[in-house]
Amino acid sequence: MNTLDSHNLNQRNVLTIYAHADDEVLPAAGTLSLMSKAGWNIRCLILTDGNLSSSAVKGKRHQEAEAAGKIIGASYDFYALEECNFSTQAVIKVTEEAIKHCLPDIIITHAPQPEQFGHRDHEVCAIAVSNVATRKNIPLWYSAPPVFLRGFEPNFFVDITSVIEEKIAAIGCYESEQEKAFMQLDAILVLSIFWARELGQKDGYFEAFQISRHCVDASFFSALAHLKNPVLSSR
Ligand SMILES: [Zn+2]
Repeated sequence: MNTLDSHNLNQRNVLTIYAHADDEVLPAAGTLSLMSKAGWNIRCLILTDGNLSSSAVKGKRHQEAEAAGKIIGASYDFYALEECNFSTQAVIKVTEEAIKHCLPDIIITHAPQPEQFGHRDHEVCAIAVSNVATRKNIPLWYSAPPVFLRGFEPNFFVDITSVIEEKIAAIGCYESEQEKAFMQLDAILVLSIFWARELGQKDGYFEAFQISRHCVDASFFSALAHLKNPVLSSR
């Protein structure tokens, strides 16, 4: 884990905070993989340990996450907050601790979504993480919900075509979740193509984010100018 001592200005750190193991790969595995290939440190924090799942599945979720992390170049921290019952205060505390250790340049988390459309844990996580990121003025990206996109207003799209195989493989690591409809290969590809179409792109696979707060310096534009096909697309 990075500490103040090992932090250097050339290395970027991204911290993802999600309620459940698997929440991170579905909307963001491609982007995280691209970041790690570019030399970023990727730290994925998972708030719960699947305590509502069958006991056989509990420990497995951590192993599955570690396996996915090897593919996308991410390391994991697991907390054991009670699924469907944790408070915003608990997530605020966990987030503040993680920020102290990771010194993130960007935080990625669930998009805030009314409970009737999304999982209660996702909403609580989004509210708490937003609270901390806002107070600490850390750039915050919301990733796309797996289903029911209501309330999600994407304004930043990442071309993950070059790493789509890694994304599929990372999601495939979560064998215990394979029965979920949105974890199916066709659903993953359809959503990735849907974001391409939103951008008017006929080809390719994309991930979508809603950036709540971000600033860039001149190096961002020189990086864009040197790319033949810009990896990062903003509309
Ligand atoms: Zn979840």
